[in-house]
Amino acid sequence: MNKISGIFAMGILALTSCTSQVAQEAEQPWIVDRFDDIKVIRYEVPGFEALSLEEKELVYYLAEAAKCGRDILFDQNFKYNLAVRRTLETIYTTAEQREGEEFAAFEKYLKKVWFANGIHHHYSNDKFIPEFSEEWFRAQLAQYINDETRQIEDELLCRIIFDKEFYASRLNQTAGVDVVKASANNYYEGVSQEEVEAFYAKMVAADANNPEPISYGLNSKLMRDEQGNIVEKVWKVGGMYSAAIEQIVFWLEKAAAVAKGEQKATIEALIKYYRSGDLKDFDDYSVLWVKDTASNVDFVNGFIENYGDPLGRKSSWESVVNFRDEEACHRTEIMAANAQWFEDNAPINPAYRKEEVKGVSAKVITVAMLGGDCYPATAIGINLPNADWIRKEHGSKSVTIDNITYAYDKAAQGNGFAEEFVLRDEDRERMAQWGKLSDDLHTDLHECLGHGSGQLAPGTKGDELRTYSSTLEEARADLFALYYLGDEKLVEIGLIPTLDVAWAQYSKYIMNGMMTQLSRIEPGKNVEESHMRNRKLIGEWCYEKGKAENVIEWVEKDGKSYIVVNDFVRLRELFGELLREVQRIKSEGDYEACRALVEDYAVKVDPAIHAEVIARNNALKIEPYGGFVNPEYELVKDAEGNVVDVKISYPANYIEQHLEYGKNYSFLPTLN
Ligand code: ZN
Repeated sequence: MNKISGIFAMGILALTSCTSQVAQEAEQPWIVDRFDDIKVIRYEVPGFEALSLEEKELVYYLAEAAKCGRDILFDQNFKYNLAVRRTLETIYTTAEQREGEEFAAFEKYLKKVWFANGIHHHYSNDKFIPEFSEEWFRAQLAQYINDETRQIEDELLCRIIFDKEFYASRLNQTAGVDVVKASANNYYEGVSQEEVEAFYAKMVAADANNPEPISYGLNSKLMRDEQGNIVEKVWKVGGMYSAAIEQIVFWLEKAAAVAKGEQKATIEALIKYYRSGDLKDFDDYSVLWVKDTASNVDFVNGFIENYGDPLGRKSSWESVVNFRDEEACHRTEIMAANAQWFEDNAPINPAYRKEEVKGVSAKVITVAMLGGDCYPATAIGINLPNADWIRKEHGSKSVTIDNITYAYDKAAQGNGFAEEFVLRDEDRERMAQWGKLSDDLHTDLHECLGHGSGQLAPGTKGDELRTYSSTLEEARADLFALYYLGDEKLVEIGLIPTLDVAWAQYSKYIMNGMMTQLSRIEPGKNVEESHMRNRKLIGEWCYEKGKAENVIEWVEKDGKSYIVVNDFVRLRELFGELLREVQRIKSEGDYEACRALVEDYAVKVDPAIHAEVIARNNALKIEPYGGFVNPEYELVKDAEGNVVDVKISYPANYIEQHLEYGKNYSFLPTLN
């Protein structure tokens, strides 16, 4: 429930260049591998060099800990995943005949297994079937797998890989089936859904009066012991997955030794929990973790998200190591410092301006290492912890990951999207140069200032706009952001170097709202989602109001339709005029005007344009899923063995990284 999906980049325009990420000399490609429906992207860690030595060391130790839990996730996803992975890797690294279609298909399958942390698709959860023949594979087994390297019997292995119905889905949530038995994950064994529910209902009932309820079942497999009793096999030092958890603890102890104050106590609490397996210890750790907002370096490490369990109880192992993106945080601080100026100068009825604005801030982070269920595919935002009582009593940490979205944007560059949909070279160049910065600023202005601006008229309660209220509210925040993005004030306070940043956003916003976002809507359907409605509303309204002056124009060229902005300055005035009206509607709770605005401009789709956009977008064949390769870190020591620096490098080879992790960070037995 608390992750922002990373699968968002497909329809987004190619964007580049951010002031915090100066273009490098001799640029490396951002996409390092592509296969099937997946692209693998590298990410950079700007700002790492500027960390203090202690912070760099802390990142290093936490990053090592992040890599040590990889086997746990493979095993959680399916009990034979480690057997499959190890067999495939043995064949892959020893095979002599590496030419031909069968071997190419074998390599592709192995890449998919690495990406999904198992044999089931990371997103659909269905088993994927290889494109090489079973006959060819059996010949490889006979030639390269011996008694020493055999993980499980060949017959079982082949059935696991080739029989689509055998452990068909990792996570089956079909209504009416026993979801525990129908799911291939390794969270339960030999127990039915009914038995699991009864087992935990009893524990929860006994804890019913606890104001700090325990997240029962979160860190264990539920199964039968030799006597047939249902028991939890707990994931802890000395329990299930001990060999990997011991390694995680080893690196966490090193991290605790260089960490300071609150953070030291936080890491020590995590170690205590890994040793005891006691979920009360986990809550104690989570409370310390959420309270520590001062540390520059931060991390997630543990059994965190329960998406993989059909009953939503068992959590997969994951880790993210990160540090504060000072420059991006600085951006939001400048905005907060000028919040009152923005409010006082908003192009709205002065009666509806807020007299005193309270600042809002959002933390932006740079990821240094992804592990477990955050690797290779990851979220672009994190909001933890998950325990409701901790969120209520102690709050939660909410972050956006800037270097990951930056890498997604870089990878989208050159996917043909801008060439297909942006008519004019100057617009495409402006978007390429300023797209990322303008997107970030648009988001910051929308979130930090837009939603918080304005006030209601006396007597307005705030619920008058009913089903139209969220579309209107998103439009209000977007218009506030768009209007101020084109204001000289932003240049003056150092947020943008030139108004070209705004014009890049204007071209893109109008194109997306009136045209390209339609690719995500099924033919025959109207626009329903409120953010999509708001963008269409703004685009269509400004198009109509500026029609006499040709502010926005539909252009036909070589049988294709394009939407272009001819007059950015006039468009900004139109944004201001619409903001004034939208604020009036909200402040006065004018339902009729709101309904008319949304129904007239935001909902109905032109079927011809819709069909054209879908066809052109499909022709681009952009992979819908993305994941990452990690950077590498190395301790630099002096003659006495003291750590004097930590070096970062970007090897950016998907196959080599997984082979290396399989060799150096694989601690679990094949069957757990
Ligand atoms: Zn919003």
